[in-house]
Amino acid sequence: MIHVEQVEFAYARGGFQLRVPDLRVARGERVAVVGPSGSGKSTLLRLLGGILVPARGTVRVADTAVGSLPERARRAFRATRIGYVFQEFELLDYLDVLDNILLPYRLTGALRLDTAARDNARALLASVGLAGFESRALASLSHGERQRVAVCRALVASPAVVLADEPTGSLDPDSKVAALELLFERTRSLDATLLVVTHDHAHLDRFDRVVPFRAGAPA
Ligand code: ADP
Ligand code: MG
Repeated sequence: MIHVEQVEFAYARGGFQLRVPDLRVARGERVAVVGPSGSGKSTLLRLLGGILVPARGTVRVADTAVGSLPERARRAFRATRIGYVFQEFELLDYLDVLDNILLPYRLTGALRLDTAARDNARALLASVGLAGFESRALASLSHGERQRVAVCRALVASPAVVLADEPTGSLDPDSKVAALELLFERTRSLDATLLVVTHDHAHLDRFDRVVPFRAGAPA
């Protein structure tokens, strides 16, 4: 489902370089990415999600060479095939809960925002214990509730791959477990591949595999 080959990437400034010779993740596999701060974990996720494009090598996700797609196609690819839980959630305060979940549908014409999509968004919200939150303002939500909304958004378009960047980072222990359970359970029912950047070493045994990162490369 994911094949990163001979990839090199450098930001325009700052001198950080990422090198990934060969990384493969199977369909349905659940992988934890761990490593010190600044080792390139988020950069790897951005490359997989087509937010960044490698200088060299290929990033294949769901049979698509993501880095070679033109900007517009990359955005459509991201909305239709990838579910992304950002570290800071990246929810929009001026939209209500339901519209935040349905954001992928607004980012590309490749997805149709119809009754089925809205029903699915409501069902997801209910499944995370937030039934009735549809029209709530984002600002009125707790951290844990925002987190669950971010997870719903990542899952709403039934992605092939879910990328989650420290999704449990600032949650209390109970919410951490709940958030991971939710990601595991939902990706399993979608037969989706799951990559989670995490510092929660207590939960690593729940993953199929751990990929350690060090200084811009898999260790
Ligand atoms: P991690 O997620 O493992 O903490 P990141 O992938 O976020 O690491 O960052 C790796 C390195 O790249 C860090 O040194 C960081 O400062 C640098 N970096 C991240 N984003 C940018 C950017 N937009 N421009 C320049 N350097 C960046
Ligand atoms: Mg990071």
